[in-house]
Amino acid sequence: MSSSILRLPGSTRPSDGSPLEPVATTPPGEIPAIVARARAAQHPWSELALGARSNKVRALGRLLLERRQEGIDLLCQEMGRSPTDSLMLEFSSLDKFVEMAVAIAHRALRPTRVPLPRLEFPGKSAVIEAVPRGVIGIIAPWNYPLVNFSKHLLPALLSGNGVVLKPSEHTPRTGAWLAARCRDVFGPDLVGLVQGRAEAGDALIAAGVDAICFTGSVATGRKVSARAGELLIPSTVELGGKDAAIVLSDCDLERTLAGIAQWALSNAGQDCSSIERVYVEKPICDEFVRRLAKFVSSLSVSPAEPGDLGPLQNERQLQIVEEHVAEAVSKGARVVVGGKRTGSGLGYCPTVLDGCTDDMRILREETFGPVIAVRRIDSAEEGIRLANESTYGLNGSIWTRDLKRGAALARQLQVGVALVNNHSIPGIIPWVPWTGVKGTGPGIANSEYAYGNYVRRRTVFVDRNKNPDPWWRPADENLHALGEALAQRGLGRFVLPRLAGLLLKRVKTIREAVKKTA
Ligand code: NAD
Repeated sequence: MSSSILRLPGSTRPSDGSPLEPVATTPPGEIPAIVARARAAQHPWSELALGARSNKVRALGRLLLERRQEGIDLLCQEMGRSPTDSLMLEFSSLDKFVEMAVAIAHRALRPTRVPLPRLEFPGKSAVIEAVPRGVIGIIAPWNYPLVNFSKHLLPALLSGNGVVLKPSEHTPRTGAWLAARCRDVFGPDLVGLVQGRAEAGDALIAAGVDAICFTGSVATGRKVSARAGELLIPSTVELGGKDAAIVLSDCDLERTLAGIAQWALSNAGQDCSSIERVYVEKPICDEFVRRLAKFVSSLSVSPAEPGDLGPLQNERQLQIVEEHVAEAVSKGARVVVGGKRTGSGLGYCPTVLDGCTDDMRILREETFGPVIAVRRIDSAEEGIRLANESTYGLNGSIWTRDLKRGAALARQLQVGVALVNNHSIPGIIPWVPWTGVKGTGPGIANSEYAYGNYVRRRTVFVDRNKNPDPWWRPADENLHALGEALAQRGLGRFVLPRLAGLLLKRVKTIREAVKKTA
């Protein structure tokens, strides 16, 4: 493969800025051949029974787990996370993820028989089948270099597709490692790999793939949707977030602050469903902020092991975090803890900001960093209103001891995933649709509802009727009478004997008309 060397970004370790081995980019002109090879491998793969495909996918899951240390090393290099964090975030539940994905595939790919009324459709049957789309292009961001692939890779393969992976230019090595493990299990071509930046992603969309699964920013998601639309190929886009947590006075304060810190700071806040806005009822806000700040300042920051937080993954992301914090402070927010670089690589201290107001970027734009912005509220209703003012809508959570009220309030949030007393966790449950509203995009990952990404539905209709259908040509007065009887039946009138007589007459008329052609 002729190639050029991928320089910045993704060429240095976020933890200390030291250089990483360069990675070869894929010349756009070579991408159609990669798709064609995946297509050739896809035909025999799709002919296998689902049970056999499931066993191969299980073998991939096992291999990834067996060789996890290689993957963890790459994640540590490219993301700067600690080994514990990399293990927990991308490997520890892989076996359960695979098993659930297999169970969902058996449900989602099952043919469905269509119930047909006998009178209207005599002798007919129809079944709806799931047909693999062919070759699926998966374009991924850098924040979870494995998981953002596996959520689409596993169901795409289980459905009988070939796949071409396009990792982020920031994390090309982890993506290449995943593709290599796929080669070990499925042979050289079923899962292809394309490396590079925007041009490579764009070229993949146009290289003959049958569908695109994209995860990334809103700006790119719009371009990907438009490009796929031009080419009339289906695409699913899962985009950014600005998740809100609403903390009510009756919450279990200690569990709540641990939960908020977890889902705001996991992966150093570089998570589409990070809690970035915390709306806290005034009576408990002082105590909440004081204890949250104390808890946050006790967390270990990479390179410490086990390491609660790693650095930001790239320089631009660190700049965004710094810009948002600086702007918030300039408008009156108070840094309770953090608010500065760690001094090691792209590290940024976990931060709590109090006194945030609605005009601040920290409450409006995706920050994607380890910053918890607190905004005081008078009531749950005010919290819901403010949470819903966002241009995003991925997860949203209510923290309260009153579970019934909490669930009712959660349902008022304009989000794809509404929670009480937790956040983000459905993202690792393959049975649950991971989806959003507004700028987060309409895409779906996980669950049977995501299968439109991987299969098209084909109807197979079989007619065993020996007679012509009674409404076929030629038309006569009995056809009109038949239509009238059917309409009357629709209004609840008893017309069965009349209908039966008309049906017989119509069949006879058509048969006689056809006989005359002999
Ligand atoms: P990004 O949009 O910059 O890049 C994502 C991928 O798209 C990369 O592989 C990139 O090379 C590729 N790309 C860029 N331009 C392209 C083009 N014109 N055509 C095709 N491909 C192109 O996003 P990022 O900075 O890597 O990721 C961070 C974003 O991802 C955040 O906004 C985050 O919220 C979002 N995200 C969303 C989810 C979710 O499930 N909703 C999950 C993870 C991350």
